[in-house]
Amino acid sequence: MNLILFGPPAAGKGTQAKRLVAERGMVQLSTGDMLRAARASGSELGQRVAAVMDAGGLVTDEIVIALIEERLPEAEAAGGAIFDGFPRTVAQAEALDAMLAKRGRKIDRVVRLKVDEDGLLARVAKRFAEEGRPDDNPETFKVRLAAYNAQTAPLLPYYAAQGKLAEVDGMGTVQEVAAGIDGALGSVPA
Ligand code: ADP
Repeated sequence: MNLILFGPPAAGKGTQAKRLVAERGMVQLSTGDMLRAARASGSELGQRVAAVMDAGGLVTDEIVIALIEERLPEAEAAGGAIFDGFPRTVAQAEALDAMLAKRGRKIDRVVRLKVDEDGLLARVAKRFAEEGRPDDNPETFKVRLAAYNAQTAPLLPYYAAQGKLAEVDGMGTVQEVAAGIDGALGSVPA
């Protein structure tokens, strides 16, 4: 099964993806994690994306599409992928559909975590205090939210039109959100 966890930054996608990995043996493909790893390694790619990430903007489609494509064979071998933080633009979504189709695969379900912006701001203030991610500072986070609203939210009708979209309340406890996601995946064959 191939699943997209969809929602604004700090909606809880990473937390839920890690649980699904532990419980179902799928592979989490987080472009945010991949980009942070590239930065930490000091690679040329990492250096190229650093400024954009720190400013709260989106890295180019070309870069994130290539990062994802590289990992598709591994996800297939594990029985499926949880896409987390990708796709973030319509061009990325179209590229993903094309890459999967070429391999005889598809996206089975898109689970949208519905959250309110005030709740997100509170969460991210806490994460900033605990983890100190530069792009979690309140001003940069607002830029990320604006990027989500302008470039990523338009994917919702794209997936709704494909009949793949399920909505889950993302403001409950981790366990409540997990139960909601499991419910949304119940109708998808493993
Ligand atoms: P969050 O924790 O808010 O969900 P991520 O860890 O997914 O954020 O992403 C952090 C940053 O990495 C983004 O603000 C953006 O600069 C870059 N990034 C991650 N995924 C993508 C993507 N699919 N397209 C463009 N930029 C991305």
